[in-house]
This record gives sequence, C-alpha cells and structure tokens, in this order.
Amino acid sequence: MTELEQLTRLCQNLGSDPAQAAVMAGQLQKRAGQLVAERGLTREAAMKYLLELVVKGRHGEAPPESLAPVFPMREQLIALFQSAYGRAPDVMVRAPGRIEFIGNHTDYNGGPVLGASIDRQVWVGLARRTDGRRQFVSDTRGEVVAFPSAEIKKVSGAQRWVNYPLGVLAALPAFGLRAPEGFDYGVMSDLPSGAGLSSSAAIELASGLAFLEATDQHPPRQTLVEVGLRAENEFVGVPCGILDQGVSGFGKKGHLVFIDCQGPHFSTVPLPAGAHFWIFNTHTKHALVDGLYAARHQECMDAARTLGVKALVDVTPAALAAAEGKLPVTIFKRAKHVVEEIARVQACVAALQAGDLAAVGKLLVASHHSSRTWFENSTAELDFLVEQLTDAPAVYGARLTGGGFGGAVMALTSEKFGRAQAEAIASAYAKKFGTAPDVLRTQTGDGAMRVA
Ligand code: ADP
Ligand code: MG
Repeated sequence: MTELEQLTRLCQNLGSDPAQAAVMAGQLQKRAGQLVAERGLTREAAMKYLLELVVKGRHGEAPPESLAPVFPMREQLIALFQSAYGRAPDVMVRAPGRIEFIGNHTDYNGGPVLGASIDRQVWVGLARRTDGRRQFVSDTRGEVVAFPSAEIKKVSGAQRWVNYPLGVLAALPAFGLRAPEGFDYGVMSDLPSGAGLSSSAAIELASGLAFLEATDQHPPRQTLVEVGLRAENEFVGVPCGILDQGVSGFGKKGHLVFIDCQGPHFSTVPLPAGAHFWIFNTHTKHALVDGLYAARHQECMDAARTLGVKALVDVTPAALAAAEGKLPVTIFKRAKHVVEEIARVQACVAALQAGDLAAVGKLLVASHHSSRTWFENSTAELDFLVEQLTDAPAVYGARLTGGGFGGAVMALTSEKFGRAQAEAIASAYAKKFGTAPDVLRTQTGDGAMRVA
C-alpha cells in the first residue's frame, strides 16, 4: 500500500468519509514534505509529529502558524471521539472565546461593555447513550471520566475540567430545561485556556448548546447564555459578569457584541473592515487578585451609595466632577474610571458606526490610562506592552483586557502590523521582565452554533 493509501485509510478510521479522507491524506503528505524541507526533520519524525497533532489535538499553546491545522477542528473532534468511544458524535457544536474590547469593570456598575467573539473555539461532540451513563473526554486529558446520570457532584483534582459540563447539566433545570440522561461527550479546542480569552465560557456555551440540541430543546439564545453564566457562578464558583458568556453566545463575525448590562440586552455593532487583533498574554497574575476585585467592587458600590444612585451608570461625568469633594479620594478615583469608561464605550460605538478606527484606537488607549491612573488595576508589565504597542506603526490602540492586575493586553491593528513587529515587542518585554508573553493573532468569529 502506498503512503497516500495508508494515510487515507487512517483518516477514514478516524471518521472521515472517503472523499474527505483522500483530501486530508494529501494535505498531510504536503505538510510533512514542508516540515522536512523547512526544519530538517526526517519524514518519519514529521509524520509522527503531524499525526500526534491530529489525533490528540493540542491545547493551551496554539500550533505555530506555519503548522496551522492540517485537519480542521471538526475532523480532530471526530478523531478524539472515535478513539475514546469507537463511534462518531451525533451532534457537534462550537463556541468561541472572547476579547473584552472596551468597558473595564463597567458590568457590575450597570454600564455597557463591548466584546469581540474570536475565531478560536471550543468544540463539543455528543452521542446519546441508553444506559444512563455520562462519559466525558477532553483533548487536554486523554482518559474518559464516567458518572451515573443521577450524580452531579463537583469534582476536584486532575479531572476538575468536567465541572464545566457538569455545571451546565446542573443549571439546565433552573431554566425549565431538561438535561440529557446518558451520553458520550468529547471536547476539543484551539482556544488557549487561562489566557484571558474565556475558554471557560466557551466550554459552557458549547456544552449547553450540545445538551439542548441533543434533546431537541431550542430556548432563546439569552437562556443559553444565562445557563452558562449560572454554571460558572454557582457550580464552578467564579463570580464573573455576563460579558464572557454573552459574547460567546451572541458573537458575529465582523462585529462586536454590545451588552447593556442593566437588562441585560445584547446587540451587535459592525467592526470596520481591516481591523485585526493581537493578544499579548503576560501570564502574570497578582497574588491577591480575588481580594482586589472584591475591594474594587465594594468601592464602586460605596461611590454609588454616597452619590444617592443605585449604580454608577446613573452618574454622568459632569455630575461626578461636581461631587468630587463629597467622596473620599480613593472612592472618587474608582468612580471616575467607571463613569468615564461608560462614556468611552458609548463614544466607541459611535466611532465604530462612523468607521473611524483611529478614533476607536484613541478610546482604547484612554481606557488603559484610566485603568492605570484611576482604577489602579494595571501593572508594570501591562503598561509596558501598551506603551510599546501604541508607539508602533499600524497599531490603532491597545489596552489591558479583562479584570487587570496581570493578564493580557489587546491591540487593535491594521493588517500591516505583522508577526515580526509583534515578536519585536515580545522580545523587548522579555528583556525587561525575563519571560516572553504569548503572542496570538486573532480576528472576529461567529458565536456559538451547531455544526453537525
Ligand atoms: P479562561 O476562561 O480565561 O480560559 P479559566 O480558568 O476561567 O480561564 O478556564 C479555564 C478552564 O476551562 C480550564 O482549566 C479547563 O478546566 C476548562 N477548559 C477550557 N478548555 C478546555 C478543554 N479543551 N478541555 C477541557 N477543559 C477545558
Ligand atoms: Mg474563565
């Protein structure tokens, strides 16, 4: 049998139909040839590497761009499912990660926030079982974890990732929805986890949608978002706001998601063409981050109470300036950030509607400066990246993204900003701080959807 025939058969065994398998086998051969030429690997080593990439998938670090998926995620999920359960999934869905675009700590103050759903996703496959067993497998951990369907208890240890789908199963009845009894479940992702892109919301949304589709239930999209949020807040135990699940659920390619957190109400705003995102994840995290978030939350509530409103969304920048003397200095600083950030989100929507990316970029930088000066949730690492990025050509703007006190910086760039510039900034960072940040290029992508 020729190599091509062997590879075609292998791809068929991994669940592809004959035509797809032949195409994939050809791609695999071509990529192996490139690896041999570019990296001096033996053909055997190149093939072994590619096959591992295909069968196991890779999680956490994305494959280098030059090795970008030989097989689409869909095929990788089928391969994972086949190797765990010996059959293909009946239902396949995917849900994207997200970027907090602008609107820093506005959500719990009743304000608006803009997020971007990105082109990296968590994929979930599901096949029903009749024996009431629920089995789970992930590309990050090879082994299958099984539970009887009557048992939904939080898991600790190496398999605690199952708390995400378990949390969703636990949340469904609170919305009048049925959880499927027995099933085989597989999850596969090209979205780095723990990188500030909310892989947790993506796995919740993908799991929720898979469970609903498999049981032929089709509630409004907002319900799916709320199921995911409840799983994260109540089962996993992370007190996040609506941004992560809302953007993963309502995302649309070429758009940003606008969330009015008071409803919440969801809508989309077109992103002018030619906008690209770069994420620099510092992997730094303040040791006291939970306490710091809680303190900021409390300071915002204190500000609202002193100003006689329910939430800071009801205070205008002018009203706050007039009340400056009435507030303790720290409380005033926090309120100034939130109140002006709310105005910046609104200004950003107007700039997007006008197609003015330069104006959008200025608002992003202003948001970062406000975080640094008034909310004091930036760090030397994040400030350094934002400074380097705003000095670089082809960058519209940059800011810390997410809660702050470490984490990641987002840059909005034109297509002229390339890998070489990004790497130069990463090297300058490494020189100063010892380790390089992870650099990821991304674009907008669609929200959670069924794919098969
Ligand atoms: P973030 O949401 O910023 O990526 P979190 O700590 O909130 O970081 O969520 C990451 C967690 O989500 C992981 O530790 C893991 O439990 C779960 N997760 C994400 N992707 C996968 C995956 N492909 N397989 C299994 N679990 C995953
Ligand atoms: Mg998360």
